[in-house]
Amino acid sequence: MKNKILVTGGAGYIGSHTCIALHQAGYEIVVYDNLSNSSREAVNRVASLIGQPIDFVEGDIRDTDLLRQVFSDNQFFGVIHFAGLKAVGESVAKPLMYYNNNVSGTISLLEVMAEYDVKNLVFSSSATVYGDPEVLPIDESSPRSCTNPYGQSKLTVEHILEDLAVSDESWNLIPLRYFNPVGAHPSGQIGEDPNDIPNNLMPYISQVAVGKLSKLSIFGNDYPTIDGTGVRDFIHVTDLAQGHVAALDYLLSYLEQQTSIEEHSSNKKSSIGFLPINLGTGTGTSVLELVTAFSKVSEQDIPYQFVSRRAGDIASCYASADKARDLLNWQAKLSISDMCQDTWRWQKMNPNGYNLA
Ligand code: NAD
Ligand code: UDP
Repeated sequence: MKNKILVTGGAGYIGSHTCIALHQAGYEIVVYDNLSNSSREAVNRVASLIGQPIDFVEGDIRDTDLLRQVFSDNQFFGVIHFAGLKAVGESVAKPLMYYNNNVSGTISLLEVMAEYDVKNLVFSSSATVYGDPEVLPIDESSPRSCTNPYGQSKLTVEHILEDLAVSDESWNLIPLRYFNPVGAHPSGQIGEDPNDIPNNLMPYISQVAVGKLSKLSIFGNDYPTIDGTGVRDFIHVTDLAQGHVAALDYLLSYLEQQTSIEEHSSNKKSSIGFLPINLGTGTGTSVLELVTAFSKVSEQDIPYQFVSRRAGDIASCYASADKARDLLNWQAKLSISDMCQDTWRWQKMNPNGYNLA
């Protein structure tokens, strides 16, 4: 089957939104997730939104035997690999857990893909691989460096993918470097469901707005930015999901073109190799600007206090989104107001996330 995709981590925040976008674009999906940071309820809701059951396998990407089973039961065109741990602070406390899950897990997946000759991969990378950027907006050729085990695990996987592309020219490896994904599906049925107190800004703001948390702490008001607070490139998760569809569509049409070139000449078919692409809007928004936008949309007061900078944070980070536009014909469409609106709807409809109790 040419358009069947294995989605590792497909029960998670970005994965669940991407499953819907893939289904709408005509891809068949198999979701593989160990539910370590997600719930079966998210999968059920995706199934109800697309109006058909999801082919779901509960399993760990480090379980190569189970992966082999799934690859022998299905003929995949490729894999979108979301599965991984993502909390920076936790990665500092538990580096071995992060390297094991994110790096060893990816190696296990790549080995099974190679065995079954499935060599098309879209990988969840992150703008964190750019460290503290010297030049803004950040394009894909910017130097990469990381200061925490989470970021290092993403960068290490990128290096592994680069080495793999050199070793065997038949691989097509697309790391998508996400900027700051926020928002939720417009239905209010699926969204981000952090465990405990959120680390990230948008879920923190929405929990203050709904009254679950009393006050936002803004980490630093002395950055060299428009209002002294940090600036980030917030991108709506449904735009991000479309970016994955665009990457697969691009790969499919590239490979089709190569096949027709091969049929008409003696030229050897070439592959994409290692092709990193930023997924961001290209626009920076400050922490205070986001708080103001959320307050307006939700019509709630969002009390905040300035506290000292958070260790490891940078002043500003936003993408050059030109490569995604030129190559994938993809651009983010939704505004900061849309991001706040959809987060707020999800928060109000699901005050306890997927926990129905
Ligand atoms: P998430 O935690 O909601 O989703 C990740 C999913 O992977 C979860 O459902 C989890 O249960 C699953 N998983 C984790 N380890 C696994 C394993 N060993 N085997 C099988 N399943 C496993 O996170 P998300 O926000 O949807 O992020 C998806 C990917 O994007 C992650 O790799 C993350 O590092 C990356 N990313 C996220 C952000 C962000 O801000 N959300 C930014 C940049 C990159
Ligand atoms: N931030 C904040 N208070 C919070 C969480 C985040 O002021 O409770 C700031 C953080 O310092 C950064 C921005 O919000 O400037 C985005 O942080 P987040 O953790 O959401 O994403 P990051 O860019 O760190 O991956």
